Order: sequence, then structure tokens, then C-alpha cells
Amino acid sequence: MQQFIDKYDFTGKRAIVRVDFNVPLNENFEITDDTRIRRAMPTLKKVLESGGSVIIMSHLGRPKKVDPKFSLKHIVGRVSECLGVPVQFADDCMKADAQAAALKPGEALLLENLRYYAEEEGKPRGLAEDASEEEKKAAKAAVKASQKEFVKKLASYADCYINDAFGTAHRAHGSTALIAEYFPNDKMFGYLMEGEIKAIDNILNNAQRPLTAIIGGSKVSSKLAVLKNLVGKVDNLIIGGGMGYTFIKAQGGHIGLSLHEDELIPDALEILKTAKEKGVNVSLSVATVAGQSFDNDTPQKVFDIYNIPDDWEGMDASPASLENWRKIIMSSKTILWNGPVGVFELPNFAKGTLQIAQDLADATKQGAYTLVGGGDSVAAVTQMGFADKVSYVSTGGGAMLEAIEGKVLPGIAAIRD
Ligand code: AMP
Repeated sequence: MQQFIDKYDFTGKRAIVRVDFNVPLNENFEITDDTRIRRAMPTLKKVLESGGSVIIMSHLGRPKKVDPKFSLKHIVGRVSECLGVPVQFADDCMKADAQAAALKPGEALLLENLRYYAEEEGKPRGLAEDASEEEKKAAKAAVKASQKEFVKKLASYADCYINDAFGTAHRAHGSTALIAEYFPNDKMFGYLMEGEIKAIDNILNNAQRPLTAIIGGSKVSSKLAVLKNLVGKVDNLIIGGGMGYTFIKAQGGHIGLSLHEDELIPDALEILKTAKEKGVNVSLSVATVAGQSFDNDTPQKVFDIYNIPDDWEGMDASPASLENWRKIIMSSKTILWNGPVGVFELPNFAKGTLQIAQDLADATKQGAYTLVGGGDSVAAVTQMGFADKVSYVSTGGGAMLEAIEGKVLPGIAAIRD
């Protein structure tokens, strides 16, 4: 049965906490953005302040074997600083028995990168490229079998399990989902997970109307399931960025060199048809800021979105499109934003995306509920200094998208089941 962090008695208990400390490091192994560490602090501090101790576990990067580059040792100092207590370190996540057993209330132990072991993801490693189907099957069965021991070992360190790693909640990995089985009556979400789940629920199930989704980014293919789920739920669907051009081409527009996916034209038409049937207002760009090559200093020109010349490429939202979108945003009570509306990495084509960040901050001030997720959209609100001027900034890219697709995330199901 699921427990709740605010009600659970941690006195004298050891909690094993899955966090997402997959932070970016520079070439000197210094943390360049510690947001993920800071966002996990309320949960860790709660356990320590309630008379418990914590065993913290995470992955870092995508090591395929033990590789010092991906050691969590690089971050133990920062974790200690944030937590306000010295954090001990276990060099091998499978050999932490003694350190875990010696933890006293108020103490913390960080385990080495879980992904040093193939068992964390449960996927075989080191298979020859020309391995036969049978060899692949046997390797998969072998790692699945040893995964049970891996998970059992992690579980043996603690009395209760907390999942606070929303960034990996869409993965059915050892530490994110399978471990919950060992804590049938002592498993719960951390505060970050609780916040993320509530934020998504505020959009998908409890939205105040009008509800608007702004979906941008590069490709329709990467967000097809998101668009299909949202079109049945929202009042307004703003489609911007690279993915917009497939919709324009689908309707007979001339899009020049702009990014598009011909094979997704039928899907785009289907989404537009569903929107019409359901009375959903789909808002595409009306004009685009185009460039002649994919670089920051290329000359810029604004074209009608249906008439982009052959040698020009749409790269940012135009003032006219942004004006339309602002009207929609400012008249909405609930807004979800995922994906940039232009080539945000190039400063000369980031204006549209930064304007959306501004609109969301203004809508929030006016009382709307606003949820922002996805790397570039989060970067845009952060760059504008608006991270605390929107209602919620999600820490999960892929996990958030899968949740918006309407999928049940394994990390969430494992706690609730
Ligand atoms: P996603 O990861 O799907 O949210 O996509 C983000 C990417 O979309 C960023 O790298 C942007 O540069 C890209 N993008 C946004 N608008 C455009 C556009 N008009 N043309 C090409 N790429 C774009």
C-alpha cells in the first residue's frame, strides 16, 4: 500500500531514495547546473529532520561500464553543501551493506552510479554486433535474472523506499520501479514527484477552462502521441516551431526549405480533423521569420507562412503569430507549454520563444495555472528569470511527454500498485 511522505514515521528508519542527480558536468567535472540536486532537497531533508537516515541513489549519464567520468563522486561535495550534512559515499552500489547498516539518524550516504551495472536498466551489454537472435535472447534473459539480485540488494539497505526521480519515472528500471516490490507497505513518492504528478493532473484532469497547450519543437513525429492526446482535451492548441510546417504543407502551403516530415502529413490532417470535430481551436503561425541558412547571422525576412520562397527556411515565430498566440494565452486559465517556437539555440531566432516565456509569466500573474516542460522551454523561462513566475517547471523531459501522452509511467505505477 502506498504511503505518503508527510504522514510516514521515519524515526530510526533508513530510507532508500531514488533521485535524479543526472546533472551536467563540465570537462573539469564541475556541476554546471545543480537544479536537479536542489529540487530533491525537500524530500531528503524531510527524512533527516524526522529522525531517519537516507541512502541516496541515482544514475549519471549513460555509462556502459564502470567509467570514472560518470562517477557520482564528482557531485558528493555539492550534495553535502545543499543538504547541510556531510554525505558519505559508497564506491560500489552493490557493496554498501556495512555503510548503510552504520547510518545513524540524520546521516546520509550516496551510492555510486547505478548504471555502472547493466542490471539497473535490465539491458544486456557488450553483445557482439553480429550476435544472433538467440544469443540476444539469452543475454537478455541473463541480465533479467541477475537484475532480481541487484534490486534485492539495493532494497536490503533500507526500511522504506522513496521515489523522487521524475526524470526517470518513464523507465521501468531496477531503482525506479522494480525495487518498490520489496516495500509493499513502505513505499512513497518524494515531494518532487508529488509536485510533478499534481502539475500534470492539473492539466489533464483538473484544468480550469479555457485550457491551452502550446506545443513546439522540431518534429511532429516526436510529439505525435502528445498532440493526439491533447487534441481531445484542450480548448486551444497552439502548434509552433519546426513541427508547424508539416501542418502548413498538409494544407497546401508552400514552405520553402522549412523543416517538415512528409510522411506525417496524414497524421497532421487527422489531428486537424479531430480538432474540428471537437471544436478545438488549432492556432498555427500566420507568418514566419525565415533565414537563408541555418546560422545565427543569416539574413532574416518575414514571409506569409503559406508562401515561403524556395530558398528560405522558417526559423522563428513572427510578430503577427506571437500577437495571436498572446491573445489566446492571456485569455486562458490553464496553460501547458512544451517545446520552442523557433530555433532557440540561435540568439537571433530565439525572440519568439522568449516572448512565449514572457506571455506565460504574464498569464500566471493574472491568475492562470502554467506548466512548463522540456529542455528549451525550461531554458527560455530560466533565461528570462521567470522560473518562479510560472506555476510549475517540470524536471522531466521524456517523462513529462509520456505523461501528457496519457501513458501510465512505470515509476508512478510501482508506488501506486
Ligand atoms: P524538441 O526537442 O522536439 O522540443 O525540439 C527542440 C528543437 O526544435 C530545438 O533544437 C529547436 O532548434 C528546434 N526548432 C524549433 N523551431 C524550429 C524551426 N523552425 N526549424 C528548425 N528547428 C526548429
